[in-house]
Amino acid sequence: MAERVIPLVDERMAVRTAVVPASTSAPSGELLDGLGRPLRDLRISVTDRCNFRCSYCMPKEVFDKNYRYLPHSDLLSFEEITRTARLFVRHGVRKIRLTGGEPLLRKNVENLVAQLAELRTPEGQPLDLTLTTNGSLLARKATALKAAGLKRATISLDGLDDAVFRSMNDVDFPVAEVLAGIEAAQAAGLSHIKVNMVVKRGTNEDQVLPMARHFRGTGVTLRFIEYMDVGVTNGWRMDEVLPSHELIERLRAELPLLPLAPTTAGETARRWGYADAQGRHDPGLGEIGVISSVTQAFCRDCNRARLSMEGRLYLCLFATEGWDLRSLLRSGANDEEVAAAVARIWRQRHDRYSELRASLPPSPDSSARRRIEMSYIGG
Ligand code: SAM
Ligand code: SF4
Ligand code: SF4
Repeated sequence: MAERVIPLVDERMAVRTAVVPASTSAPSGELLDGLGRPLRDLRISVTDRCNFRCSYCMPKEVFDKNYRYLPHSDLLSFEEITRTARLFVRHGVRKIRLTGGEPLLRKNVENLVAQLAELRTPEGQPLDLTLTTNGSLLARKATALKAAGLKRATISLDGLDDAVFRSMNDVDFPVAEVLAGIEAAQAAGLSHIKVNMVVKRGTNEDQVLPMARHFRGTGVTLRFIEYMDVGVTNGWRMDEVLPSHELIERLRAELPLLPLAPTTAGETARRWGYADAQGRHDPGLGEIGVISSVTQAFCRDCNRARLSMEGRLYLCLFATEGWDLRSLLRSGANDEEVAAAVARIWRQRHDRYSELRASLPPSPDSSARRRIEMSYIGG
């Protein structure tokens, strides 16, 4: 009997055709969406595979041995990714983040980093090029990534307690190897290293203080992320969210923290600095960040676009449909045409899911059931 193929990805994700407008004009570098927001940040997911099974992202029950990952031919090549990224830079993108799935599982990902590191803004400046990883392969890859031109990295780590961490990644991966990856990244010379911790009430909230104590004064910025209702597979519940304001209260009961000003517009994290004995921010002790995607919407400044591994463009983390850029890239369209199609898509963007969340129906409606997964679009 022929193997039954469950087209989970395609069924769930509506895809729209990217259309080249009748008249095209060269990108001006200042493309605004329907709410006046510029395009500055491009997150590129390079693989839908991962060696972890974090229950909030790729639960084992769904991402099991029968799960159909995309075949290699469906993925954008490094050349296609770089071409697309170059056009986005002409539209105003200044920051590129590689993500996944687990980006370090994509074969020779350092070659892609090298190509992206060559890109320049219209002013001749390099991009802010970074990568988000679970850290499992970082000890092996950090030197090659740095040599290829990677500037910085964000490592996800949900706790210091080995048992808690092993259970959260759900593949029994030891915390010591991720910590070794973080050290390797520092030793390789990557700067501004961040650690992202997703906090789930009742699961790893007891890790918040140990994590803060561990990374204080190490040069690593720890950021706490509210557990989000992204995708459809994680069985998200509001009572498992630990609101950032509550988390900050808990931290401030033990550690002296004071609010810091944002460094850039559209910054997702609220910054808090460790204070010295005089109550002033001590840069030597560093800072932490809180990303309150659930309790404090930051859609107003959202300047992020997301490109999936198969070349679909998403305008919001909670989008239910993506735009098929791959067909356009492979159709023989020239750069001006692809850039014009992207401009047309961005100009009609009105997404602001987090702002609207509270007014949406409480139980998943049919559109929520089709939402993209975090492992597909990469955060
Ligand atoms: N595998 C890499 C990693 O874990 O860093 C990159 C991809 S992962 C999807 C990107 C980020 O999304 C990680 O920091 C992860 O913790 C975060 N994430 C995944 N699911 C989430 C959820 N439901 N709520 C909040 N953050 C989530
Ligand atoms: Fe993999 Fe990252 Fe998702 Fe965890 S959060 S399952 S490491 S993609
Ligand atoms: Fe941006 Fe969508 Fe998140 Fe709002 S909900 S901040 S529009 S990605």
